Amino acid sequence: MDIKNALKALPTPSYVIDETALIKNLETLSYVEKQTGCHVLLAQKAFSAYRLYPLISEYISGTTASGIFEARLGHEEMGNKQVHVFSPAYKDQDFDELLGLCDHIIFNSFSQWKHFRTKALEHPEIEFGLRINPEYSEIETDIYNPCFTGSRLGITLSNFEEHELEGISGLHFHTMCEQGADTLERTLEAVEQRFGKYLYNMKWINFGGGHHITRPDYDVELLIKCINRIKDKYDVQVYIEPGEAIALNAGWLITTVLDITKNGIDIAIVDTSAACHMPDVLEMPYRPMIVGSEKPGVLPFTYKLGAPTCLAGDVIGDYSFNKPLSVGDKLIFTDMAIYSMVKNNTFNGMPLPSIYLLKQDGSTELLKEFGYEDFKSRL
Ligand SMILES: *Cc1c(COP(=O)(O)O)cnc(C)c1O
Repeated sequence: MDIKNALKALPTPSYVIDETALIKNLETLSYVEKQTGCHVLLAQKAFSAYRLYPLISEYISGTTASGIFEARLGHEEMGNKQVHVFSPAYKDQDFDELLGLCDHIIFNSFSQWKHFRTKALEHPEIEFGLRINPEYSEIETDIYNPCFTGSRLGITLSNFEEHELEGISGLHFHTMCEQGADTLERTLEAVEQRFGKYLYNMKWINFGGGHHITRPDYDVELLIKCINRIKDKYDVQVYIEPGEAIALNAGWLITTVLDITKNGIDIAIVDTSAACHMPDVLEMPYRPMIVGSEKPGVLPFTYKLGAPTCLAGDVIGDYSFNKPLSVGDKLIFTDMAIYSMVKNNTFNGMPLPSIYLLKQDGSTELLKEFGYEDFKSRL
């Protein structure tokens, strides 16, 4: 059975993780580790399907977390690997627990560092770092730009308290989103210009996420060059913590056409929702791809695809097809492993999609199924 038929045989709505594509991504990331000695961490914010963590742990060095739950998940499920955490602010009770889960804890401000310093320094086995804001980002969408004016993320040079660095062994920046190694190269210049003088005294630097390493046109050799240059110049260990790149193009969302209607344009109602199952479509916004479709008007039959929710704007987009759509047809959205399962919700009583794994041998395995209780239990 070819992949398309295997996917269309599944009940909908379902996310399907593609083991083969995931492994291909992991091989690239593992290559970067081998060529540089850097450590690659999975940013769980993008992909937390922990049933795949044992596989992921065969290729990269660990996980990074944005708070207590992700830190615990990484600690529990990624085997004996590194667990880093960065949060804009820690709560006292969470911090105690994090000390038992993490090997690297990164603070967002000197006030947080000073608040937790005494406790932190009782744990020589843990490394502590600071997130800096190099005030340089090429991200054009403000919602994803940690350097916009007034951003709460990271310490700017003018707020950097250089006499408070005792106990700090690393710096962290995260200023990229879906970008190439050329952006990293320019970002590093900004980082060095402002914070280079502190780097000489650090043990490590973390380049954050947003590196689109597994996109076909990404310049992996330039990334390797950047990492090795910084590593050699400052004698530091380098970490990168991609989210997207780990599971880029490694999943689908399968949906069924429930009804076809008309209002100036042909409309197809499907059993998935942008608001519930792919919120980035509305947040970013972006237009996900569907196998066998084109932009509106390119192929003979164009439809506006919408959800069975009551939100008027719960529209996925306009797509054209070679044949008219019929009730019962199954559609396959691509690149649905990242920022999808982790963000989904049951707004309007929408069911959560099941999660399947398409294995290397072509068979599918149900990883997780949801029902009414998952909706009810949260309220
Ligand atoms: C979101 C985030 C990442 C991962 O970003 P991707 O764009 O998914 O690679 C890494 N580090 C931090 C601090 C983040 O906020």
